[in-house]
Amino acid sequence: MAEAGDLYRIGQGEDIHALVPGRRLVLGGVEIAHHLGLLGHSDADALLHAITDAVLGAAGLGDIGTLFPDDDPRFAGADSQQLLRHAMERVRALGWEPVNVDCTVRAQLPRLAPHRQAMQQRIAQALGIEAERVNVKAKTAERLGFVGRQEGIATSAVCLLRRLAG
Ligand code: MG
Repeated sequence: MAEAGDLYRIGQGEDIHALVPGRRLVLGGVEIAHHLGLLGHSDADALLHAITDAVLGAAGLGDIGTLFPDDDPRFAGADSQQLLRHAMERVRALGWEPVNVDCTVRAQLPRLAPHRQAMQQRIAQALGIEAERVNVKAKTAERLGFVGRQEGIATSAVCLLRRLAG
């Protein structure tokens, strides 16, 4: 009989990016109107980066920095949805598919709740699963720390993988 570890694997991911003027704010593949955006080599989508790390971690494939080095000019300004799609191809090639993803974005501002559904849809598309298998939670930091001072946005995600049938 197969053991649980052969059938299911769990992974987690976290990310932080600084909020600065003159950059776009992209979270969960959705561009959000705001006077500050996230600083980074790619589009700096901290939510997709945490999810990518969760998916890669569950499959034992290391992390996003190993797969897509941030000193590699090919990934400058990269669309993080493409990075997640790439990561998913690697994960599926190993015989795993996502069961569900749950994630949290911490931002003092802007309010992210109105964008939750759109984010869930984009994330699900990149993962190749139904939108109802993706859950995005938006929280503030009660004005505490770097998130509370609107200096950055922090994210975390967990992903459950199951063995592909056949
Ligand atoms: Mg990142």
